Amino acid sequence: MKKHNYSAGPCILPQEVFDKSAQAILNFNDSGLSILEISHRSKDFVAVMDEARSLALELLGLEDKGYKALFLAGGASLEFLMVPYNLMKEGGKAAYLDSGTWASGAIKEAKFFGETVVVASSKEENYNNIPKGYSVPADADYFHCTSNNTIFGTQMKEFPSLDMPIVCDMSSDIFSRVLDFSKFDIIYAGAQKNMGPAGTTLVIVKEEILGKSGRIIPSILDYEKHIKAESMYNTPAVFPVYASLLTLQWLKKLGGVAAVEKLNNAKAELLYNEIDRNPLFKGAAAVEDRSNMNATFLLNDAAHTETFDTMWKAAGISGIPGHRSVGGYRASMYNAMPIESVQVLVDVMKALEKAI
Ligand SMILES: *Cc1c(COP(=O)(O)O)cnc(C)c1O
Repeated sequence: MKKHNYSAGPCILPQEVFDKSAQAILNFNDSGLSILEISHRSKDFVAVMDEARSLALELLGLEDKGYKALFLAGGASLEFLMVPYNLMKEGGKAAYLDSGTWASGAIKEAKFFGETVVVASSKEENYNNIPKGYSVPADADYFHCTSNNTIFGTQMKEFPSLDMPIVCDMSSDIFSRVLDFSKFDIIYAGAQKNMGPAGTTLVIVKEEILGKSGRIIPSILDYEKHIKAESMYNTPAVFPVYASLLTLQWLKKLGGVAAVEKLNNAKAELLYNEIDRNPLFKGAAAVEDRSNMNATFLLNDAAHTETFDTMWKAAGISGIPGHRSVGGYRASMYNAMPIESVQVLVDVMKALEKAI
């Protein structure tokens, strides 16, 4: 039986993506070849890459606005260093918002390249909230933030307007809600949270911000080289890019980001209402910063852990134990999760209340 998969990543994808990917592994586009054995330079795969790149921009409303989409390797983690390599001037500085473990990972890499100003941090509160009311030094080369903190279950609802490039790690909430994406100059996201299997990273770059750092950048880390090579500077992750394209096509058919946002809001409301109503549970993140993608919550009395764990496992739920740095539970409700699966979890929480 298919599980209700709450994993934070790699994570649930639409069933249609599993079916079509499986078919493409056996026989891609009726070519008599598997997607796993074709050349990345073949006409069929070049078409996949082109469509994936343009559909990513289309779904975010960024077509014809000076952006290029790339599918790179190395995960979101490699972007932690590609961003400063490409944007931070020699002797320059960059501003970072420290809202979680991934944000602090990005800060750590930026420090190799120059002065890194942390404009605000919620580390002291174990990142249970998004820092607010900070100011960004006007002479920074760019500002970096993390839209959704996968581990702690917090999500930025507002973004600053600044006179400098804004870079955002959207790994765990890209394509999940409508934002004015043209506010950002670089958006990056590891595929495995809301778009595809692990192995590729979507990077969206506003071309005009490149080429200004004065640094000599190794080719494989240079966004301009990747753009020039149309995201084929070296062999791209053929299968993850194809599966990502299938997810983007599914999203477009569904009505795009605005349509999926409505579904995501409904799922999050259903679960948070139960967390707040049920006397056995409490939310782990500040209410105003709660993430619609990753809901973190705890049992008020840890003595009920074994009973609850037995019950959700029996209901076919998978992947809800919280990250070790938060404990408790984390229900990741990415785009492909149906509301019916959320109802199953809510029903288990209600059943626990009755059983105790
Ligand atoms: C998972 C995650 C990362 C790390 O992604 P990798 O692709 O494993 O490098 C970075 N940032 C955020 C917000 C994440 O959720």
